[in-house]
Amino acid sequence: MLRALVLLFALTLAVPAHAEGFLTRLLNKPVPGGVAVIDLGSAASAPSVRYEGKPVLVLREDGKRWIAVVGIPLSVKPGEQTLDVGGQATVFRVSPRTYREQRITLKNQRQVDPNPEDLKRIERELAEQNQAYRQFSPRQPSNLLFDKPVEGPLSSPFGLRRFFNGQERNPHSGLDFAVPAGTPIKTPAAGKVILTGDYFFNGRTVFVDHGQGLISMFCHLSKVEVQVGDELERGAVLGQVGSTGRATGPHLHWNVSLNDSRVDPAIFIGAYKP
Ligand SMILES: [Zn+2]
Repeated sequence: MLRALVLLFALTLAVPAHAEGFLTRLLNKPVPGGVAVIDLGSAASAPSVRYEGKPVLVLREDGKRWIAVVGIPLSVKPGEQTLDVGGQATVFRVSPRTYREQRITLKNQRQVDPNPEDLKRIERELAEQNQAYRQFSPRQPSNLLFDKPVEGPLSSPFGLRRFFNGQERNPHSGLDFAVPAGTPIKTPAAGKVILTGDYFFNGRTVFVDHGQGLISMFCHLSKVEVQVGDELERGAVLGQVGSTGRATGPHLHWNVSLNDSRVDPAIFIGAYKP
């Protein structure tokens, strides 16, 4: 009897209050540049959640419990972070993650040290793109387990500390796929085209809003085949792979942003490596 009670007690300790759902297991990588999935309970309506003053993606997992899916900026230091859940502070922990270095040689020194006119253009383009990342539409993302935008090997991972011709620049904000020029790029989830452009660093670029601050950016395209305002179904082709902008050769660069934080796209295709 006593043994049975001890066993029962041990089982009670081992089983969490509720089982983690598929999305939590897939997405919860609370590191700088990762995602924190926070359980919000089973209230009748969705709690309103903010992180660093910005609205956060909230959805119902398995039709039961609300979860917040929070993007953690790469610049966040490991330790405690605070989420605002309906005006109440909820603390979560960010674990460390080490990012490697990458050294890139560019023939065009102007792409490393832009001239004053380039700098004006870069500033203008940055503001335009940052505004796109800050959009928050009420739609629910069609799928959080994303399809790969192209089939092909991953090349540069997210978060690499990058040195161009020996000079440190911004870390790698997305994930690269090594695929030939002309490869069609498919949207990994349904969404609306909110911005297209031809930028100094990113070259030909498309932004897709999947809903609730979850935004994809695809760049260095040879060809953009959509327009701002287009509603894309999951898998719709938005353009072709190229090497426009600051690129050493044809590849697809894909950014994923949550609550205006660029996070590791590998998480969303089940390819995250700690
Ligand atoms: Zn890249």
